[in-house]
Amino acid sequence: MWAIPLGGLGEFGMNMLALRTGDDILVIDAGLMFPEQELLGVDIVIPDITYLKQNKRMVRAIVLTHGHEDHIGAIPYILGDLNVPIYGTQFTLALVRKKLEEHGLLDKAKLHEVKPGDITPLGPFQIEYLHVTHSTIDCVALAIRTPVGIIIHTGDYKMDPTPVDGKPFDLHAFARYGQEGVLALFSDSTNVERPGFTPSERAVVVRMEELFRAAPERVVVSCFSSSIHRIQQVIDVARTVGRKIGVVGRSMVDNIEIAHGLGKLRIPDGSMVRPQDIRSFDRRKLVVLASGTQAEPMSALSRIAVDNHRLMGIAENDTVILSARIIPGNEKSIFRMIDHFFRRRVLVYYDGGRSAPIHVSGHASQEEMKILLQLVKPKYFIPLHGEYRHLFRHAALAEHVGAVSGQIFLMETGHAVEFTADGKAYQREPVPAGRVCVDSGSLEEIEDVVIRDRRHLSEDGVVVPIVAIDKHTGRVETPPEIVTRGFLPSDDGQEILAKAREVILRTVEQSTTEEKVDWSVIKEKIRVDLKRYLNKQTSKRPLILPVILEV
Ligand SMILES: [Zn+2]
Ligand SMILES: [Zn+2]
Repeated sequence: MWAIPLGGLGEFGMNMLALRTGDDILVIDAGLMFPEQELLGVDIVIPDITYLKQNKRMVRAIVLTHGHEDHIGAIPYILGDLNVPIYGTQFTLALVRKKLEEHGLLDKAKLHEVKPGDITPLGPFQIEYLHVTHSTIDCVALAIRTPVGIIIHTGDYKMDPTPVDGKPFDLHAFARYGQEGVLALFSDSTNVERPGFTPSERAVVVRMEELFRAAPERVVVSCFSSSIHRIQQVIDVARTVGRKIGVVGRSMVDNIEIAHGLGKLRIPDGSMVRPQDIRSFDRRKLVVLASGTQAEPMSALSRIAVDNHRLMGIAENDTVILSARIIPGNEKSIFRMIDHFFRRRVLVYYDGGRSAPIHVSGHASQEEMKILLQLVKPKYFIPLHGEYRHLFRHAALAEHVGAVSGQIFLMETGHAVEFTADGKAYQREPVPAGRVCVDSGSLEEIEDVVIRDRRHLSEDGVVVPIVAIDKHTGRVETPPEIVTRGFLPSDDGQEILAKAREVILRTVEQSTTEEKVDWSVIKEKIRVDLKRYLNKQTSKRPLILPVILEV
């Protein structure tokens, strides 16, 4: 049997692992990655599935560990090439369903709901789902019986001894497999640099309540919209201190609705304030849950920070709590957003290493990793889910624990390891693998980064809108200009460009001064509006690179 990571090893995001025995392939997770800054004009990045396409008829199923984007985000983009049955837990599949619906693919998909303890036979594989705790709900690890032995894939996990939903990490199941004998363990490396144990999700309650009680006016809490445990605690603490809940931001509204609909979020009757009533509701009696922890330019929290949200204002003495990690790469935008709040004399709290945290990680720290290794006692160990240094340090930790009887494999995306019938394992030639960039508005062919850019440029061209903005007043000093290359050769080209200039002007005019002088925000707004307009008028998708001139 071969194990082939197609994403997520040596990088954070786009997790995907293929297991192949004979002519049967099982795929675990199909995630996406958000692009780094240098990938201009790219919305998301997904794994290159050339290997799976080459062996299309062998792929039996995609099995999902949980509903985070880095585990399910690629599904809409690969389903066209690989329409195989998808297995996942209730909440995970609810998120998948929502995605597929948005892409108009729901009819075609074959979704199979499973729960912890279920066993799915798939050709030569037999999969048992083991409940694990993490920052979202309904997460499972996989114990897979294969012709050469048992494989355990942890998915993302931490060992939360006091989970908010009362469903513990199933230590017993891991121990049971450990006793039976596990051929190989594939495990989450994210927090290998952290000593000790990751605190329970419940640890944030203390500080949350303290801040809610101390808040003189309105409270805004932002967390990841998939962090259902965190959302539950915000709802619970708000009730304790006598505040009601408002929700802003599309993903937050959607996820709360989904989780509540499945009975996975307890919302007491009468505790919610309707969106249209948030603005006028007594500020001292309200907690608003908002999406946008990473200061994504179009998100609810970014708009609130510059007081440009349609449902609510922000004012002096309001409290803003960022209950999420500051993801490396996003620091600049996040701190700029925090500055906007401070300028308005808003009380902002973010993860600052205090004894009582307002955010805890969803991934295991070193001691939990050691416990897992001791329980499972695998013959072979392969660290997953991390950059190379995380994988390396996880390997070193396993070495130190001494619970691995055979070998530890340090693999990267595309590498392959073969487990043979006599219990041996060998590293094999890599398979084609890598990253593919996707323009999220289109479902067309997905390709290699360079090819995609070249094709994109040659077919749809480049559009560079140039706007001169006064750094202090935010005024547009001269009419916007648009430079194009390889775009719009036709007769009505000039007319479309003239209208496009109006679109830009309108976007800028409808922004607040703070947005206008925050170039990352105004650039993104111009890009999104112009992209929508040009796509509608010409059905082309040029690369749009806004330039702001400071005057
Ligand atoms: Zn996760
Ligand atoms: Zn993950």
